[in-house]
Amino acid sequence: MDFSLDYTEKQESFAVEVRKWLDENLPDDLIPIRDVCKMSGDQWLKRREFTKKLGRKGWLYPGYPREYGGGGLTPEYTYVLVEELSAREMALPPLYDMGILASPAILAFGTEEQKQRMLPPMFKGDVITWQLFTEPEAGTDAANQQTNALRSSREKDYFIISGHKVFVGSFPSRPEQMYVLTRSDLDAPRHQNLSSFVIPGDLPGIKVLPLDLFTLSTFPAVSGVTGANVEGVKHSVFFDDVKVHESCLIGKEGQGWMVTNATLEVEHGGGRGGVVRKNYMAEKFLEICKTDPVISRRLKNNPELTDSVVEIYIGSQVERLLNMRNADGKGAAYGGPQLALYSKMFGTRFVSHMARVLGPYAYTQDEKYALAEGIFEVGQRCGICLAPGGTPEAYKIGISRALGIGR
Ligand SMILES: Cc1cc2nc3c(=O)[nH]c(=O)nc-3n(C[C@H](O)[C@H](O)[C@H](O)COP(=O)(O)OP(=O)(O)OC[C@H]3O[C@@H](n4cnc5c(N)ncnc54)[C@H](O)[C@@H]3O)c2cc1C
Repeated sequence: MDFSLDYTEKQESFAVEVRKWLDENLPDDLIPIRDVCKMSGDQWLKRREFTKKLGRKGWLYPGYPREYGGGGLTPEYTYVLVEELSAREMALPPLYDMGILASPAILAFGTEEQKQRMLPPMFKGDVITWQLFTEPEAGTDAANQQTNALRSSREKDYFIISGHKVFVGSFPSRPEQMYVLTRSDLDAPRHQNLSSFVIPGDLPGIKVLPLDLFTLSTFPAVSGVTGANVEGVKHSVFFDDVKVHESCLIGKEGQGWMVTNATLEVEHGGGRGGVVRKNYMAEKFLEICKTDPVISRRLKNNPELTDSVVEIYIGSQVERLLNMRNADGKGAAYGGPQLALYSKMFGTRFVSHMARVLGPYAYTQDEKYALAEGIFEVGQRCGICLAPGGTPEAYKIGISRALGIGR
């Protein structure tokens, strides 16, 4: 059986439209980016401009409602868009932090006024939104928030936020807005004591400090068709009595846990509907095993290494098939977190097999020795990083909830 996803007639005619639009709008001086930390400001700005063009066309958030600036496309058309962008080494969104994570929460819990005010700038690519959930004592246990957002005693329509977030954000060092989970009631029971806000990123009292991490993101993110849409840099954010108007509150006071879960459903369901993510790193690795004289000689002289090549081939095929199964968006609800969990865990196996086969070549970006523009070194650093977007344990909770056997 041929497990390929060929376009239908309707998809093919949409693909023609997409290709023509890309010919006219995708800048032709984009350099392929493998390590986002090495992307120049100029290349970042070019991608930002292209992101805005996608937004104006409704293709930055193609599956989201047209009335707020999304594309209103079904997964079968979103699939075509992602495929055609991938063919040009472009991901959707082209840059990280372009708003998708706050938007499901605003759609589900925002007032009509908030949807009209907040969603169009996100969907059109005009604002970057950081997601601020994690704290030193609230990672997997996200409900354990210590950052307080308490009603001001002097001005009742304001909240005062104080606390500390960690592992958040990306480039640039100040986003236009921040989506913040807080504790808004010091006495209410757990899960009923939280509130969510989308606030301007430049309010007085907010301090942002970059973190020096060795990882850029997760293996699924860096093994994709481009490295340009990866977080790259994470930050600590400190709130020192930051005054926030109640119009920034998403959902009701005390509903923060439900609002957050509207986001986590999407974040942990990565790849359910309209997306078949390509494992560019696996493709490059297999190609190099066949064509690079040093590596193919190494394989010939050490036949036991072939097992590792086979493991990577099988793993990447299983990942591709799980992706395809989810592509029409009609599959079981556990399909998204199952794929996300599989891809993350496959990453840990991939990098150890890759290190066996490539030896020191797996660990360098040195121009003289690096293979495939240094992408394997990026993979080595990120393959063992399981926390971003939630730990495997958090994904398992998502799967069990979808199966109706978890809380
Ligand atoms: C590169 C990177 C990017 C990130 N981006 C963001 C971001 O943009 N926004 C944001 O808010 N956060 C972000 N995070 C934070 C990320 O969501 C957290 O790191 C993650 O949720 C885990 O939390 P933790 O680091 O506190 O680990 P912990 O929760 O302390 O977990 C440590 C270990 O204990 C295990 N564990 C914890 N609780 C349980 C349990 N109940 N049962 C079984 N095992 C358990 C975990 O699986 C893990 O192995 C990012 C992190 C990284 C490293």
